[in-house]
Amino acid sequence: MTIQTAEAPAAAGIRSTLAVMGVMRFSFGTMGSGKSTLALQIHHNLTSAGLRGVICTMLDRQGARVSSRLGVSADALVLDPSIDLREVAVVDGRPLDYLVCDEAQFYTPEQIEQLAEVVDVLQADVYAFGLLTDFRGRLFPGTARLLELADESGEIQCEARCWCGERATHNARLVDGVQVYEGELMVVDDPSQAPDVRYELRCRRHWLAGEGPPSIELG
Ligand SMILES: [Zn+2]
Repeated sequence: MTIQTAEAPAAAGIRSTLAVMGVMRFSFGTMGSGKSTLALQIHHNLTSAGLRGVICTMLDRQGARVSSRLGVSADALVLDPSIDLREVAVVDGRPLDYLVCDEAQFYTPEQIEQLAEVVDVLQADVYAFGLLTDFRGRLFPGTARLLELADESGEIQCEARCWCGERATHNARLVDGVQVYEGELMVVDDPSQAPDVRYELRCRRHWLAGEGPPSIELG
């Protein structure tokens, strides 16, 4: 799904010098689709172009940094639900040029509304990256608000696959190896905590069936 506005952004994601309006773009994908890598890349590109901005995250397992599987990382501002993003977007009395928002599914709907104001009032660009659905197969509240308010929404093209080889579209939560469909929304997979909570990518069929890869029987 791609929703384009009349004012298409420059290919590199850098605001055209002619454009005065900000843009709110939401890129979504499954876990492992390279969202954090893209977030870091766009932050790097915009900073290199001389623009002022920050990269934000929420509940990052690595602490105060967004990290990607490629080993790139940047100092990230770690948000919590009480933080007003309209304040984050103003530094030294001047609005920033952009905000990059990683793990945007965990932002509150109110914070997504603040991001829309950042775009419309402060004329900053917002690049949000996040998951579409949770382990129950339902939109995260923050994601739903992003889909409702973003100027553009699009799926990240990636090669994430289910164990069967189909394209992975769903995130399965496994508790002690068994897929669950109910529970607290936010549980990060921390190996030091019991029970053992993990996430796996599945195609819809195997997500619905709760079916993992067949175990190999050793005779
Ligand atoms: Zn499958």
